Amino acid sequence: MTTTATRTAYAELCEVARETATLLSAEFLLAWDQETYMPEGAADARASQRALIAGLVHDRKTSERMGELIAACEADAELTADPATKADIREFRRDYDLATKLPVELVRELTEVGSRAQNIWRKAREQSDFSVFRPILERLVGLVRQKAECYGTPKGGELYDALLNEYEPGARAADIESIFTPLAERLSALVANLADNGTPPDTSCLDLKIPEANQHSFGMFILESIGFDLSCGRLDTTTHPFCEGLAPGDTRLTTRYRDERFTDALYGTMHEAGHGIYEQGLPKARCFGQPLGEAISLGIHESQSRMWENSVGRSRAFWTWALPHAKDKLGPAIAPCSADDLYRAVNTAQPSFIRVEADEATYNLHIMLRFDIERAIIRGDVAIKDIPGLWNETFKRYLGLGVPDDRRGCLQDVHWSFGAIGYFPTYCLGNLYAAQLWETINEQIPDLNDQIARGEFAPLRTWLNQNIHAQGRRYRAGELCERLTGKPLSADPLLRHLEGKLKPIYGLA
Ligand code: ZN
Repeated sequence: MTTTATRTAYAELCEVARETATLLSAEFLLAWDQETYMPEGAADARASQRALIAGLVHDRKTSERMGELIAACEADAELTADPATKADIREFRRDYDLATKLPVELVRELTEVGSRAQNIWRKAREQSDFSVFRPILERLVGLVRQKAECYGTPKGGELYDALLNEYEPGARAADIESIFTPLAERLSALVANLADNGTPPDTSCLDLKIPEANQHSFGMFILESIGFDLSCGRLDTTTHPFCEGLAPGDTRLTTRYRDERFTDALYGTMHEAGHGIYEQGLPKARCFGQPLGEAISLGIHESQSRMWENSVGRSRAFWTWALPHAKDKLGPAIAPCSADDLYRAVNTAQPSFIRVEADEATYNLHIMLRFDIERAIIRGDVAIKDIPGLWNETFKRYLGLGVPDDRRGCLQDVHWSFGAIGYFPTYCLGNLYAAQLWETINEQIPDLNDQIARGEFAPLRTWLNQNIHAQGRRYRAGELCERLTGKPLSADPLLRHLEGKLKPIYGLA
């Protein structure tokens, strides 16, 4: 094929991808509406609308024409001489292979069993009885293993890696284990040391009754201040907060409000805003639908949300700046609190049973437990019936608590019930990437802390935008981390961050 013809092939590939992404963005908008404003009576119609669009999207993503166009681009040495275009085509190939490797019957069965399993899981959790969930989970895990086999075990890796690859491209369980193991040991020791020898901070400044309207107004102020562009996005309320980067110029965030703890909504909003700032920073106007216009991985996505939530939002500098605004927006209840009171209170570390309620330090132990168990399941080392026992034993080892029941144990999360195995590690990878990047950013912007204390967030946002957001999927997560920080991902920065912050707060420095 001539060069001119392949140039055209690349242009056509990008055009087809843009149209597919546009179609998919309509489905995302329907999903967003379903979570926020849709009347109950629309449920059946909405399910048909979404299923129809999802089918059209799948047909387009797996079409023979897509395969021909990708092959034509790969064959053109001149086209692939440009590193960004080469990466774009590499990722187009990855997505196409993932989408076409699974037989349609398996995809359908996974969707069907997954949706039934979710309902059964809900009942099992209510009754706190794993035996209710067990039969369908056995069936689902069998299907997930089939899916992994269709993808194939990567060279030198294990079957679980094929599942991990869906969420964190190129990641290997063995590499993650080599980071998680020392992290688990030192984190468990830190958490135990704080509990046994430290003085926990006074948290009474968080137990204030603050009306939802005031919390919302403070949240909107924070969004604007940190640079989430509200002319290209909005904030609404849902039971489970999320961020959806729908389309160029359209990023939706949601949060939830609890009257008696305003920091739930505050940190939920800052977390989703971190995802949203990433979505707004991707070069979608130019490359919508192309890998170059998309996020690298769930781990890197989570690093952006955790950075704004934890590295920024739980710092002393943040509260130094935010306190007068909090007093102005949240009302008289918060008047007696100082910046130091708030800084200390939001940095409590205490083992608890529920992952989504866990603090910045113990959260990672919840993830490592899930990683250990799901990896063992896929290896076939653990039978499904033995999950509760293994869960409770591992929980005791990592967090030092005896799990009272399955509801607060192995039945708490939705993920396994729809077949999402290999997803959990990305949460902890996000914390690790955030901490390692944060050290580098502080080296490159030496007065970052003072900037935050003055409410100047633009330099940080610009750094993230230029170094991470604007790159799309040009680099794999590990490669990007090494390029930016000079080192492969390690547990040390996160441990330095947590030990350096928590020990003084607990009077142990
Ligand atoms: Zn997140």
